[in-house]
Amino acid sequence: MNFCSNCGVATTRRVPDGDNRPRDLCEGCGTIHYQNPKIIAGCVVLREQKVLLCRRAIEPRYGLWTLPAGFMENGETVAQAALRETWEEAGATPDLDQLYVVTSIPTISQVYMLYLAYLHDEHFASGPESLETRLFAMDEIPWDELAFHTVRDTLQCLKNDLVEGVFTLHTIDRDETPISARV
Ligand SMILES: [Zn+2]
Repeated sequence: MNFCSNCGVATTRRVPDGDNRPRDLCEGCGTIHYQNPKIIAGCVVLREQKVLLCRRAIEPRYGLWTLPAGFMENGETVAQAALRETWEEAGATPDLDQLYVVTSIPTISQVYMLYLAYLHDEHFASGPESLETRLFAMDEIPWDELAFHTVRDTLQCLKNDLVEGVFTLHTIDRDETPISARV
């Protein structure tokens, strides 16, 4: 940040009194512009042991498969954001179940919160951010064409849990590095 979004005066980066890390400070109006992690909410949508994936129609990772998920908006609950993203990206309105995977990625200051959700019919369709949306059985998952490590981690949890028949909350800390190019 170079200029204050409140008054337009140039900001400086320093540790405010009583704080312990540098922030963008406005010397004009005194606003401290805190930056905090962003939450990405989404769903692991299941239908008869198959999972709903979307092929991205947007960068980054155009053409690769992902779970329906996206940045929370102000004024939403996590659950609302997860369902909204699932509707926008996959045209699906599943029933929300438990919170399933929480992934912290401190290197890029993001937190993924993914719910389990169940689809009771096969009504889904690609939204504007998806090229294609379809259900995958565990042995059909395109492991080499997944958009993000978080998606791969989550699908691995799902695959294991489907074998066990027991779903528990998984909390994952990961250092997101660029996923290798498509194989
Ligand atoms: Zn200001």
